[in-house]
Amino acid sequence: MKAARWIIGAILLLVITITATLQLSPSLGNWPLATQASTPGEVTITYLGTSTILISDGETHLLTDGYFSRVSIPALFGRIEPDQQRIRSALKKAGIEKIDAIPVLHSHFDHAMDSGIVAQMTGAQLLGSASTAMVGRGSDLAEERITTIQTHQPYQFGDFTLYFVPADHVPLPRPIEKWTGKGEITQPVRPPAYLGEWQEGRCYGVVITHPGGSLLIQGSAGVQPGELDRYQADYALLASASLGKQSEYYQQVFYNETAGAVGAHTIIPVHWDNFFVELSEDVKPLPWFLDNLDKSFEAMANRHDGDFIVLKPFQRLTLTPPEYSEPPADTAASPLAH
Ligand SMILES: [Zn+2]
Repeated sequence: MKAARWIIGAILLLVITITATLQLSPSLGNWPLATQASTPGEVTITYLGTSTILISDGETHLLTDGYFSRVSIPALFGRIEPDQQRIRSALKKAGIEKIDAIPVLHSHFDHAMDSGIVAQMTGAQLLGSASTAMVGRGSDLAEERITTIQTHQPYQFGDFTLYFVPADHVPLPRPIEKWTGKGEITQPVRPPAYLGEWQEGRCYGVVITHPGGSLLIQGSAGVQPGELDRYQADYALLASASLGKQSEYYQQVFYNETAGAVGAHTIIPVHWDNFFVELSEDVKPLPWFLDNLDKSFEAMANRHDGDFIVLKPFQRLTLTPPEYSEPPADTAASPLAH
């Protein structure tokens, strides 16, 4: 009888310890936070968790990925689906009514799952891989609202030009890779579905140019060397999750082939937040058991001579316009530098 009570007590203690450990996150305390306010007419970016970023010049609005459901870890073991209420409340809080384009960086659930629904709600064109197109179809988005992209081709929305650039996914432990789906999506994904159905598909970085500012967004900490060499961007928004777990060599290549390749003066980390809880201004970083924020941030900040700033969710940053040098008279101006 006494032994049984001891065992039950020990199990209870273990459960409480594990639950508490899963909640523990690193702190943003040591990292510089952006403070710049926005001015109408300029290009602003608003961080909305994961690699969901609103880019706007006041007329035209772009939103990468658009993942707001932020399914909890326990729920990931069952069928999952977009959380309409969370999507609506995040859109409202970010002041989003209309979106022109939703470029999706790869098709895992934490990037693509809500993209079709958000496109429906905001009138946006959905752009991404053939796998992302299947996510759009599964959300009953009209075929003409889905663009299966070609890499290195310009896509124009207002004064913004977008280029999708081949990239890679950060390496994940093999069981996680299997669970989250590494292949292509070959038929429409109709939620609710198991998370593995939102297979990765192709991974991209996206370069966005505008007279008011240029940026690169890398949705996962992986690259295909050489692909960004032809572009110039002042801001590099780089996925942080799992970067700190990679080798020094991997981190150096990632830096060289992203912020280094485009000559960014400012790095802004993205995909560092705990995306298993609803988005809020004071969202915590990913829990310790998934990522060490300081290690992942240092992997970028310690290699970079320019600025490294952290945007909190819903916080807006105004970009500085690119410093264009006058092109020689006999050469046409090109958005592609180098
Ligand atoms: Zn992914």
